[in-house]
This record gives sequence, C-alpha cells and structure tokens, in this order.
Amino acid sequence: MCDFMTEEQLEFYKGQILSQIAKIEERLNSQASQAIATDTNEMADEIDRASVEEARRLELNRIEHDKLHLRKLKTALKRIESDDFGYCESCGDEIGHKRLQARPESRFCVECQSTKEFNDNHVFRRVA
Ligand SMILES: [Zn+2]
Repeated sequence: MCDFMTEEQLEFYKGQILSQIAKIEERLNSQASQAIATDTNEMADEIDRASVEEARRLELNRIEHDKLHLRKLKTALKRIESDDFGYCESCGDEIGHKRLQARPESRFCVECQSTKEFNDNHVFRRVA
C-alpha cells in the first residue's frame, strides 16, 4: 500500500484516470470515423488531395498520441490496483502529488523524468 497516499487520494487519482480514459476513447472513436469519411472523398483535385492527405496525417498523429496516452493511463490504473501507484519506476521514490495531479499517468519522479528526457533528446539529436 502506498504509505504517502490515503485511500481517498488513490480513489481520486483512479477517478481522474478513468475519466481521462473515457474522454480519449470517445475522441478516438470519432476520429476513426472521420478518418474513414475522408477516404470516400474521390472528387478532390491534386491540391485538395494534398491538403486532405496532410489533414489525415495530422489526424493520424493525434490518434497515435491519444493511443499512447491511453496506454499510459491504463498502465497507471494497473499500478493503482497493484499498489505501485505514485512511486517512480526508476528510483522508487514518491512521485509527489503535485506531479500526479497534473499527470496521473506519471511513471517517474521529476528527477528521473528530466534525466530520461535529456537522454531521449540526446539520442534523438545524434540520430538526426
Ligand atoms: Zn525517480
């Protein structure tokens, strides 16, 4: 059991996560039907087709982002159920309520997250 968190606080985060999951799933459903709708547009000329493609690409990016977010939220939910919620996966420290309130799906404490982001950026720059 999380010793820095009360039952009520855990319930609060669980509620936050569940409502975010519901919101994203709803958005994903409407996005999917929109993406299919653009497929049927055969009247578009070259330029329109290009902008339709661009719009669809952005839409797919958003969908990918949502799906990733959804996975993180579901992982957080599992962590609540297994009593691991609120602890950094890297160093085991408490993540902190301020951070969890902003992003209940946080898996790392501020320190580990910034180290991780630095590494990610570093690798990204090197590849690019
Ligand atoms: Zn940490």
